[in-house]
Amino acid sequence: MVMAAVGWTTADAQTLVLHFSDGTLLNIEMNTKFRMMNIGDRIFVTMPDGEQVEYSRDDIRMLTYEGVATGSGDVNGDGNVDVADIASVIDIMAGHQASQGSFTNCPNANHPHKIDLGLPSGTKWACCNVGALMPEAYGDMFAWGETRMRNEVYSWTTYTHCEGSYDTCHDLGMNIAKTAYDAATVNWHSPWRMPTFDQYRELYDNTTAVWTKQNGINGVKFTGKNGGSIFLPAAGIIWNDMVVESRGELGCYWSATIDQNYSYRAIYLYLSNSAPYKRLSYREIAYGQSVRAVAE
Ligand SMILES: [Zn+2]
Repeated sequence: MVMAAVGWTTADAQTLVLHFSDGTLLNIEMNTKFRMMNIGDRIFVTMPDGEQVEYSRDDIRMLTYEGVATGSGDVNGDGNVDVADIASVIDIMAGHQASQGSFTNCPNANHPHKIDLGLPSGTKWACCNVGALMPEAYGDMFAWGETRMRNEVYSWTTYTHCEGSYDTCHDLGMNIAKTAYDAATVNWHSPWRMPTFDQYRELYDNTTAVWTKQNGINGVKFTGKNGGSIFLPAAGIIWNDMVVESRGELGCYWSATIDQNYSYRAIYLYLSNSAPYKRLSYREIAYGQSVRAVAE
């Protein structure tokens, strides 16, 4: 299941009003703790009394707070009306800019955060995997260029971007970052994107990697020269099966970059419990692997 979820308290903020296309309004009063989640184009809001409201993102016409209209529901201008827009409004209302700022370590439960590892390019890494609700959660597994986790066997027969075999792969380009094939961009929207090979290389060269446990989950912690760190759980891999294998033993993270010589392979980061715990390598693109996003 691919989903993004966020929880907020509108403390110190004004009432948030969501305006729907049928003319109805949803008022979220001051100091209300609520949770919002989107699955595909459906958005679910759970209020403190447990009442859940469900709607399509196409139904939101406008967001207002303190009587100020945002113009349309598309607050962040990415072409979609969804949880990310509401997060932007809440940030403005609450007087903080969590969605824009970066941190050296994941600061609270409003994931994903941009983590600053002091990298030369200024690239920020997400604190958690796409599909995960916390940093050590495994999140979803994706075949390369797919943007949803499939509840079926992962193989060349089922892979979306080929005709049933490794030698019939569709040309998705050399770099799928920020395209319709980017699982980070599609699920989390701009500025999130899959890391390129160069960005993984930069992470590889400018951080130390240690196999460790976070809240009981095995994985690799990358620490930058500025003390910033991210944890990548050993989420395993799916191949010729519906079941994820090697959970707790391997981490396999796709880059956005295809193998220049073999179009049925892409570059990925391999993590395991033997030093140096990290390796950049190639993997057949029909495998199900994790995606960790970056923001520029
Ligand atoms: Zn976080």
